[in-house]
Amino acid sequence: AGFTIAIVGRPNVGKSTLFNRLLEQRKAIVDDQSGVTRDRQYGVADWNGKTFNVIDTGGFVAGSDDVFEREIRKQVKIAMQEANLLLFLTDCTTGITDLDSEVADLLRRSSKPVYLVVNKVDNQQRALEATEFYSLGFEHIFFLSSMTGSGTGELLDEVVSHI
Ligand code: GDP
Ligand code: MG
Repeated sequence: AGFTIAIVGRPNVGKSTLFNRLLEQRKAIVDDQSGVTRDRQYGVADWNGKTFNVIDTGGFVAGSDDVFEREIRKQVKIAMQEANLLLFLTDCTTGITDLDSEVADLLRRSSKPVYLVVNKVDNQQRALEATEFYSLGFEHIFFLSSMTGSGTGELLDEVVSHI
């Protein structure tokens, strides 16, 4: 029970890095649950006294490109069922890729709120480059760095406004 968010997106955009950052103060809880599932991690985060569940998707081993795409689709669909809100993670250092566009197509059909998160915005130069992600057409967009933590507070403020 409780409010649940899921982090979805293609591999290497930084989903697990963001997951770990959101759960910073609650690492022990994640560790307790490790091994429960191979392709999803579950944890509990809190922000300003509000507690919520976080799902990190992915972690699968890619075979052929077809298998790979199918796995991502499967994870996104499960997340759309399990979560109340979806974080669609992308990477400003690669720009928008074909796989990003496919995930975007799936998420546009979601009845749940979707926040487009552009990760790896580590500095001002990257913030300028990251503006191309507006073209994906999502109403809610956040620019942050899961590595430095810059911008994560604004995202968390919006997430907990739903609770
Ligand atoms: P996942 O496959 O989506 O779970 O991605 P990971 O969390 O495993 O991260 C993939 C790579 O991106 C790792 O080398 C991370 O250290 C790196 N990474 C994640 N977030 C950031 C970020 O905000 N800035 C930079 N520069 N690298 C990041
Ligand atoms: Mg991962």
